[in-house]
Amino acid sequence: MAIIRRNKNKDAILRRAHLGNIDNAEDILNLARQNGIKTTPLDVESLMSLMDVKIIYSDNLSSDISGNLKKTDSGWVCEVNKKHHPTRQRFTIAHELAHYMLHRNEESEFVDYTYFRASDNVNKMELEANEFAGKLLMPEADFRFFIKNVSQNVDNIADHFGVSPLAVRIRAKQLGFREE
Ligand SMILES: [Zn+2]
Repeated sequence: MAIIRRNKNKDAILRRAHLGNIDNAEDILNLARQNGIKTTPLDVESLMSLMDVKIIYSDNLSSDISGNLKKTDSGWVCEVNKKHHPTRQRFTIAHELAHYMLHRNEESEFVDYTYFRASDNVNKMELEANEFAGKLLMPEADFRFFIKNVSQNVDNIADHFGVSPLAVRIRAKQLGFREE
C-alpha cells in the first residue's frame, strides 16, 4: 500500500512539473531523487529525459552559441554545442532545462549565446535560467556540506559538481560565501 501511495505522489509531482507548476530547483531535484536520478553531480541527461526534453549534441552550431531549446512537432528539443567544454555543455543543458521549467509558456524557442544580449525581457529570462541552472547543478545543502566538510578549494568544488570554477564562484557568492 505504502509503495503505491508513494508512486502516486511521484506521478503527481511529475504531472505538476509537466504542467509547468514547478518553478523551483529544490522540487526538481526532489523529483530527480524520487526517480533514482543522481543529483551530485547532477545527471542532467536523465533529468531532461524525465521531463521529456530530447537532447541533441550538435557540431553544427556556431561557436558563439552554447545551445538552444525549441518546441517542435514532436516535443521540446534541446540542442547543445558539442564543441564546447563538457562542463559548459552540462551548464547549457541545465540552463535549457530552466527555460523549459520557467519560461516555456512565454516562448517556444530560446537561443543561448556565450554572451548576454541586451534586450530587457531576454536578459531577465537569461538571468533566471542561469540562477536556476546553478541551483540545480550545485544544490544548496550539498554545496554547503562539501565546503564545510570536504574542501573549500574552488577547483575541487568545481570537479565535485561537474561545473566550471566560474559557476562555483557565482553560486558561492549567491549563498553568502566570501573568497579569501
Ligand atoms: Zn537562455
